[in-house]
Amino acid sequence: MLNVDLHCHSNVSDGTLSPSALAARARANEVDVWALTDHDELGGIAEAREAAGDLGVRFIAGVEISITWAGKTVHIVGLGIDENHPDLREGLASVRGGREARGRDIAAQLAAAGIPGAFEGAMKFADNPELLGRTHFARFLVEAGVRNTVSEVFQSYLIEGKPGFVPHRWATLEQSVRWIRSAGGRAVIAHPGRYSFDDMQLGALIDQFRSLGGEGIEVVTGSHAPHQYAEYASLALKNGLLASRGSDFHGPEESRADLGSLPHLPAGLTPVWHDWAL
Ligand code: AMP
Ligand code: MN
Ligand code: MN
Ligand code: MN
Repeated sequence: MLNVDLHCHSNVSDGTLSPSALAARARANEVDVWALTDHDELGGIAEAREAAGDLGVRFIAGVEISITWAGKTVHIVGLGIDENHPDLREGLASVRGGREARGRDIAAQLAAAGIPGAFEGAMKFADNPELLGRTHFARFLVEAGVRNTVSEVFQSYLIEGKPGFVPHRWATLEQSVRWIRSAGGRAVIAHPGRYSFDDMQLGALIDQFRSLGGEGIEVVTGSHAPHQYAEYASLALKNGLLASRGSDFHGPEESRADLGSLPHLPAGLTPVWHDWAL
């Protein structure tokens, strides 16, 4: 059975490893098919493809697009995209555009909570200043001694109702699926178990996603607890969605799941890669 990992992040977004270091890690972990899916950004694809090619790892160009749906942030992964497609490139540039101002607002809230210097502090962790995000703030808060780990930070800061949470309007569902499809890719709902939707809302998201031409959903992901694999496997089956598998790896220090380390997809699902020439 192929070891397929279709979700991870490099330092071009909020991961800690470069695209080529990720390719080497994919190889070392015996990943056969690997996608880089940086947040709202395609700048790592060329390096990742070249490094994967040199190592004999089959590479899939990907992206994870931030959208706002029903007032909440949702992530849509695009797989097999042409990273030079102008609609996708321009769309992502517009999504990235709001991140700096949001970062300043996050820093202002943290300052009001007694933690000064967060904008500059987070920027030091953002190798790509256009992609400043909450993970970089979390790393700064660990460095500042506010909490011991990034995941502890996300329990008390940077989330709804806590200091450093700034509501943000990302792309729309319709835009994200359109950009991905224009660029020849396949759209996948990322880590459905992470959203605070009830069954009706999740059903409505899936219906709208399908009517727009979205095709897949993540079932086995590092962002799900193992007991959620079966739950989202049945949701994929019930809705006729292709199933995806990806670690959502962000770095050796922070991530629950390493590249290629998760269980295979449950039996009976149609993998999102079922018709790829692998
Ligand atoms: P942003 O796009 O700036 O809102 O940042 C979102 C990123 O924050 C996600 O992609 C994760 O990498 C990280 N994140 C969000 N919630 C958590 C959490 N509970 N634990 C660790 N990382 C998180
Ligand atoms: Mn992330
Ligand atoms: Mn995500
Ligand atoms: Mn991700």
